[in-house]
Amino acid sequence: MQPSADSLHFGNYAGALLQWIEMQNTHDAVFCVVDLHAITVPQDPQQLAATTRKTAAQYIACGIDPTKSTLFVQSHVAAHSELAWILNTVTSFGEASRMTQFKDKSQKQGSDNATVGLFTYPILQAADILLYDANVVPVGEDQRQHIELTRNIAERFNQRFGETFVVPEVTIMESAAKIYDLQNPGSKMSKSGESPQGILWLLDEPSALIKKIKSAVTDTETDIRFDPEKKPGVSNLLTLGSLATGKTVADLENELSGAGYGALKTAVAEAVVDLLDPIRTRTQELLADPAELDRILGEGASKAEEFAEHTLAKVHAAVGLLPRV
Ligand code: AMP
Repeated sequence: MQPSADSLHFGNYAGALLQWIEMQNTHDAVFCVVDLHAITVPQDPQQLAATTRKTAAQYIACGIDPTKSTLFVQSHVAAHSELAWILNTVTSFGEASRMTQFKDKSQKQGSDNATVGLFTYPILQAADILLYDANVVPVGEDQRQHIELTRNIAERFNQRFGETFVVPEVTIMESAAKIYDLQNPGSKMSKSGESPQGILWLLDEPSALIKKIKSAVTDTETDIRFDPEKKPGVSNLLTLGSLATGKTVADLENELSGAGYGALKTAVAEAVVDLLDPIRTRTQELLADPAELDRILGEGASKAEEFAEHTLAKVHAAVGLLPRV
């Protein structure tokens, strides 16, 4: 994830972190905070280092275990930028131009002002993936096109220069829960959401979480039923409650049957506070000792670097760059 906000939100937790935490038990997992991606749009230099630490601290507080997984900051492993340059040279302008995320993001800034870095963003992302021989890249649907590009780049490179890269599978997390904005349950919860009341930040104080959940938009009926089309607000609350309690949505529907929306909101608010309170406290503890956090990230970077340098050396040899003695 990009370190582009002070706190991750509940959508990031449900849609990404929960899967990552499970995958570290079954896979040799590599996670990084992509600060080089974050600087492709205007950002505040005073803030970037702090948000990078905060994002890493939240990964750990949510359950990413740096002794099981490799956890590091992207810019700490120079091979990411170096491989991205080489991959730039095997990516055609046409295929990079077809990336819809660039079109969307650059339109927002006015196309002439969008940076070349924003344009080549997916190629840096390809480097992030290909450096580690990744078989599986767990992403949301919005990233499908970028992973397809990564596959195309890897296949083309292998064809032109000999087998070098593992071609990753596109692993779309269909089952990952989607969390919607509490004030506008037709839209995904997003850090750029229009109403601050609609977003549950992982680092929100309990009083703020309770206030936001209690003022969530529902509907004019009274029955508590999971029906995302007709009852998006209530369904979103049920999803939140299910994730926070570990109960199924059906169990919650049964338990709360006839109790009214007030009771639903109270139950969801309590469960979300119980889940996020320890995460907030743990994040604060980690941030109170930045030297220890930096040590953990440094160790992760060393582990990542060893693998990445090995891949980069293979790439240099394949392309024909003169080895340094
Ligand atoms: P972003 O910072 O928006 O690129 O999101 C980082 C990760 O969180 C990606 O894997 C997204 O698919 C996931 N994510 C973001 N927002 C939501 C949401 N509202 N519901 C579920 N997953 C989300």
